[in-house]
Amino acid sequence: MTKIDLAAIRNTLAVEIETITANIQSEQNNLHVNSEPNPDQLDLAETCARQSIALDWLAKLEQRLGQVTVAMKRLDEGLYGICEKCGDVINPARLEAMPHAIRCVACQERLEHVR
Ligand SMILES: [Zn+2]
Repeated sequence: MTKIDLAAIRNTLAVEIETITANIQSEQNNLHVNSEPNPDQLDLAETCARQSIALDWLAKLEQRLGQVTVAMKRLDEGLYGICEKCGDVINPARLEAMPHAIRCVACQERLEHVR
């Protein structure tokens, strides 16, 4: 089995947390800048559409930030690479592709099918 390079993973996760946090902040700033003082109907519709896209994107970023933060926490607790559901070792290839994964493929699929 390939040994996971925890130091490299920690680095990747730290960079990701920083990047996502910066993205969330600039996205939030954009939301505030975009509101016109006296919008007409067309402006309003456009602003609404833009804001709904921005809010979707924000929600995704926040979800991603949550995942990365949890992965980082598991790294700190010495639980990184162990599935939080079944306790099995997560495939290192999966972790390499998705450093924020905290569940094995089987558990992740089961979770997504329930939804
Ligand atoms: Zn599992």
